[in-house]
Amino acid sequence: MKTLIIFCLVAAVSAKHEAYLGWKSYYVAPSTQDQLQSLGGMISGFDLDFLSRAALNREGLVLVKPEYQSGFVAALKNEGIQYWVHAEDVKAQLDLDDQDAEAVSRSTPPKGEMAYDRYQPLQVIYDYIDSVAKNYPNLVTLVTPANSYEGRPIKYLKISSTNFEDKSKSLIFIESTTHAREWITPPVATFTIHKLVENLTNPDMLERFDWIVLPVVNPDGYEFTHNSTRFWRKTRSMDHFDGQRCPGVDGNRNFDFKWNTVGVSSNPCGETFPGGAPFSEVEIRVVRDILHENLDRMVMYLSMHSYGSMVLYPWGHDGTLSNYAFAQQTTAVNMVKAITVRALPDFPKYTIGNSKLVIGYPTSGSSQDYAHYIGVPLSFTYELPGLGRGLLGFHLSARYIRQVVEETWEGIVVGARRAGQLYGPSNRYY
Ligand SMILES: [Zn+2]
Repeated sequence: MKTLIIFCLVAAVSAKHEAYLGWKSYYVAPSTQDQLQSLGGMISGFDLDFLSRAALNREGLVLVKPEYQSGFVAALKNEGIQYWVHAEDVKAQLDLDDQDAEAVSRSTPPKGEMAYDRYQPLQVIYDYIDSVAKNYPNLVTLVTPANSYEGRPIKYLKISSTNFEDKSKSLIFIESTTHAREWITPPVATFTIHKLVENLTNPDMLERFDWIVLPVVNPDGYEFTHNSTRFWRKTRSMDHFDGQRCPGVDGNRNFDFKWNTVGVSSNPCGETFPGGAPFSEVEIRVVRDILHENLDRMVMYLSMHSYGSMVLYPWGHDGTLSNYAFAQQTTAVNMVKAITVRALPDFPKYTIGNSKLVIGYPTSGSSQDYAHYIGVPLSFTYELPGLGRGLLGFHLSARYIRQVVEETWEGIVVGARRAGQLYGPSNRYY
């Protein structure tokens, strides 16, 4: 009997990540703008899934299904694009990642407390948010504006030393986990809450600003990556035309700005399917409503993603710059400088710029562009660090989570100050 139980346990462990049997992952390193663009052109033909976007002088990391590997490699050779294998066996590497995560984080913190030596399941994040709201009622208001497609609450915190009543204060909005698999992003959001509420070392952050922090935009997808399919990116909705067979929509292509024009997959099974209509996803409508409800005071919006070590700004659909480009660039430079002071040498250096120009590939219907389009002056996509050369595995080892959240917080502080200076109450000339 005992042997049978052990056998079943072993079988259960090895059955995990089975969806990725035979898959490989490759680093790709285009060295010219032409190569970068031709790489973008290969995405739909080979059904490529970039975990980390390539940029010039910055290798990307891409997942390739078994049936496309030989064609993809031939195409890379044909274009002269440098590449090398990251994982010969994606499933085996995911199993190793799981072992690493277990080795790093051993004891479980008490309910309502947050540890930064491990990735954070949805319930842990929600327990934390609930407890912060309960323990700091003078600073924090918990809002649950809607339930996700599968019925999970979507929760965010409004953080203010003046109960959101001082309309002369500027407001900053941070959200994360639109893309379900980007597990390094919700710790950045919860750490922001921690630094604003429980461990306030930068008091001007509360004196000058009100904050909205939404740690998990896409709770259904996030749960799915923990319980079933590690690289799930989209929502889990099924009410679009092929939803039964291929659920989900790319939330960061679902906003109503140049929706469904470029950089999307018209195939509902594709990773960048923009949905049947703009704002088809309830999760994305929550982000939209926060943007609109607070537009008069919102000076900066940060959308957290991973990986890539990039700070990107509009316009993503065509690579042109808005009238705010100088402010966007200088704010991004200042944020990245503050991060770099704290960064580990292992981490790739941050790249800054217009999102299309940096990744060489357009995106439409993104939150970054939509927020800027409706009037948020500083609207950035953060691609958090990870997966540079020398960092193995598919998610950044849990031993680096604290590093990432601490260095990113330094960037957020500097960005907030700069946003306040440029677009705060005494200087609202836009
Ligand atoms: Zn993302």
